[in-house]
Amino acid sequence: MPPFIDMNKCSGCSICDRVCPLDVIHFDHEKKSPIVKYPDECWHCGSCRLECPTAAIKIMFSPEMIY
Ligand code: SF4
Ligand code: SF4
Repeated sequence: MPPFIDMNKCSGCSICDRVCPLDVIHFDHEKKSPIVKYPDECWHCGSCRLECPTAAIKIMFSPEMIY
């Protein structure tokens, strides 16, 4: 499952776009807003969640991925 970005917490820093190794997250510089552009490509590496300074990103795992 793709990362979820809580826009109420997002400060618009664009770090998530820069750290994602797969360009899953695209930062729209006009709107100053991150967009999960390629949700199916997410590897669930957690880099975006770890680096987000406002803890706005949640990574969700499907039950099949846990068991
Ligand atoms: S790293 Fe966090 S605060 Fe920065 S743009 Fe991404 S979601 Fe928003
Ligand atoms: S979890 Fe990893 S691959 Fe998925 S959007 Fe975040 S940085 Fe990119």
